[in-house]
Amino acid sequence: MFDYVIVGAGFSGSVVAAQMARNFRKRVLLVDRRPHVGGNAYDHANEAGVLVHKYGPHIFHTNSKDVFTYLSQFTLWREYEHRVLAWVAGQLVPIPINVDTVNQLYGLKLDTQEMEAYLDKVAEKRAAITTSEDVILSRVGRDLYEKMFRGYTRKQWGLDPSQLDASVCGRIPVRFNRDDRYFSDAYQAMPLQGFTRMFENMLDHPNITISLNTDYRDILGSVRYRELVYTGPVDEFFDYRFGKLPYRSLEFRHETLNVPKHQAVAVINYPNDHDYTRVTEFKHLTGQVHAKTSIVYEYPCDGGDPYYPVPRPENATLYKRYEALSAATRRVHFTGRLATYKYYNMDQVVAQALALCTKLSGSSREELVRMAAPLDALRPTGS
Ligand SMILES: Cc1cc2nc3c(=O)[nH]c(=O)nc-3n(C[C@H](O)[C@H](O)[C@H](O)COP(=O)(O)OP(=O)(O)OC[C@H]3O[C@@H](n4cnc5c(N)ncnc54)[C@H](O)[C@@H]3O)c2cc1C
Repeated sequence: MFDYVIVGAGFSGSVVAAQMARNFRKRVLLVDRRPHVGGNAYDHANEAGVLVHKYGPHIFHTNSKDVFTYLSQFTLWREYEHRVLAWVAGQLVPIPINVDTVNQLYGLKLDTQEMEAYLDKVAEKRAAITTSEDVILSRVGRDLYEKMFRGYTRKQWGLDPSQLDASVCGRIPVRFNRDDRYFSDAYQAMPLQGFTRMFENMLDHPNITISLNTDYRDILGSVRYRELVYTGPVDEFFDYRFGKLPYRSLEFRHETLNVPKHQAVAVINYPNDHDYTRVTEFKHLTGQVHAKTSIVYEYPCDGGDPYYPVPRPENATLYKRYEALSAATRRVHFTGRLATYKYYNMDQVVAQALALCTKLSGSSREELVRMAAPLDALRPTGS
């Protein structure tokens, strides 16, 4: 008899499994139809021995001390600040746009104060901000929009920014200074031995049974359990009763090169050239020292694995119908990016999973975080 069957061994399912088994002695069956734990954050050593992220680059960053403390039970960290360059008009420029981006592209020598005035001058004022095009034009003007954003967004979404919600590009920062970090969160780090090792540490507990290569629908009839925690696609759970929720997907082309280093930073974006959007070199993220290097190209597409919910008003309306159905479904808890049809970063799904654990256990979030204690294997010797 299991207390919980948990569907999906990504961040969402694994956090709930670890929390309920370790701190509340619940018996958990964790199933995933993929052959590995970790969900989309899964990493592994490829045939050359280079650590790569199978489903595209995953960079951990958060402003939540609680989330960072919680995960630090299961991994040591490697400090890493992410930097991205964009190949535009024959040169590599920093992205997010900062004063160096503008100076390089237009041959200017603006200082940080002049940058603000410059953007103010080129920005196109819009009466109302409803689309992603409105957001960007009103912030950086038409030329930067065309050079840096329009082509990338069209490739990424298969839609023009004028067809996308303001929220899609709404969170893209523009910096008046020379800060070239991609994120400005308080905590920016990568799990020292990779994401998969962190998941293995999380799930290594006698109360957790893991069943991989297993679709939950194939086993539910033969397992006794009290409640289900579901982190898969919500429309699929309900057999697409109201129709399919649209997703944008990606095809990944992984390559290993016979050189120790390929590019200056982890990610180079190609807004205007090629069919791919970006190229990632993993060794920048992992800090691995190796004679070869591995990279991945990302080609956005429709169909394929569900990666990015398409943020359009009609899809939000469709999701609301599934959300109401989820809320009315007894003994099933829906959490994670697929079950709630939201693009969430890793720290956000961890926070959401911890919130579900407070509901399941009746403990407060503070209590859950207070319970966090590093595994013996992670304690510095002598402590
Ligand atoms: C290309 C890409 C890059 C990203 N980069 C970053 C980044 O740099 N930083 C960041 O913070 N976030 C990033 N994210 C977001 C991050 O991947 C998610 O926040 C996180 O993986 C969500 O975890 P999850 O457990 O909710 O979902 P998932 O990781 O998708 O896990 C859900 C699991 O459920 C399983 N499942 C589904 N249906 C069934 C079924 N019927 N039976 C059994 N198992 C099932 C699936 O196989 C899957 O393993 C990125 C996402 C993508 C697509």
